[in-house]
Amino acid sequence: MNSNDYALLAQTAQSYGAQVLYDEPMNKHTSFKIGGRCDIMIKINCEKLLCELVRHCNENSVPYYIIGRGSNILVSDEGLRGAVLLLGSDFGSVRVRGDEIICNAGASLSAVCRVALENSLTGLEFAYGIPGSVGGAVFMNAGAYGGEMKDVVVSCRCIDEQGRIKELSNDKMELSYRHSIFSEKKLCITSVTFKLKKGDKEAINSRMEELMERRRKKQPLEYPSAGSTFKRPKGDFAARLIEECGLKGASCGGAEVSTKHSGFVINRDNATFDDVMGVMSMVKQRVFEQTGIALECEILIMK
Ligand SMILES: Cc1cc2nc3c(=O)[nH]c(=O)nc-3n(C[C@H](O)[C@H](O)[C@H](O)COP(=O)(O)OP(=O)(O)OC[C@H]3O[C@@H](n4cnc5c(N)ncnc54)[C@H](O)[C@@H]3O)c2cc1C
Repeated sequence: MNSNDYALLAQTAQSYGAQVLYDEPMNKHTSFKIGGRCDIMIKINCEKLLCELVRHCNENSVPYYIIGRGSNILVSDEGLRGAVLLLGSDFGSVRVRGDEIICNAGASLSAVCRVALENSLTGLEFAYGIPGSVGGAVFMNAGAYGGEMKDVVVSCRCIDEQGRIKELSNDKMELSYRHSIFSEKKLCITSVTFKLKKGDKEAINSRMEELMERRRKKQPLEYPSAGSTFKRPKGDFAARLIEECGLKGASCGGAEVSTKHSGFVINRDNATFDDVMGVMSMVKQRVFEQTGIALECEILIMK
């Protein structure tokens, strides 16, 4: 890749009025507050622009990274060589059509939950407080408190590597525990349609508040993190295993297994990428040695 490729990407983005940032620190765009600079970041503001950029990157072998709110990723301190295509609030419109909510991928999940509440639509309460974008949530099949994206998504629009738009219905998305077709194939989600049900506004509100309160009580929200670090092993909980192995509070540099919730690795004090990787590998090794269970990382590593 050369500076010409970036100049062309920037030119295209600017022709759509999108913001372009060079050498942008990724720690400003991740919930872990970790990550070095990327070569170029483009804040996507429409589907057509995304199609053009993805096509250009593929045709010219420019590496690109799709990110939403950066709440499930750990980015290297060396940063990212290539283009970061950020689907955030510039691409976050939300509209309601009967009992459906249709939103662009950059909409924040919590904002969509609030729109559901305002319209007395029930089904999305479980997602309130997950700090991701709608695109990132469908990509991860995000879930909590007995609900997951799979239960409420009816369809989505996405872009393949050639920049072509596809429409997928729920059954074609292969949604399962923290897995989707989008994580298998390089497809970028541009919009999502949720189907909810008419409900009681008061009841929806109190469920959302109750779940948010549970998060505040149980999760170390006062520190940067990327949520649950490991996937739930079959029939057990990562946090329980980690605690049983005496790893609560175990640290490496500025990264630490939270003492409030052992399932979270937190950035306690200016942690580096290597600090977090160090804690994660220590945990995996010790849990495996003591229980025979191989924990699998839920957080996605970008380097
Ligand atoms: C405090 C805290 C609590 C959390 N609680 C939960 C929880 O209860 N349940 C849960 O499931 N998760 C939870 N998470 C994790 C995280 O918020 C979710 O996985 C969220 O859905 C990620 O969305 P994002 O926009 O931040 O994605 P990012 O972190 O930006 O990206 C994650 C992955 O999705 C891909 N991606 C993002 N947008 C798109 C798109 N439009 N098209 C294609 N690929 C895309 C990225 O390339 C990357 O591989 C928590 C995180 C934190 C920090």
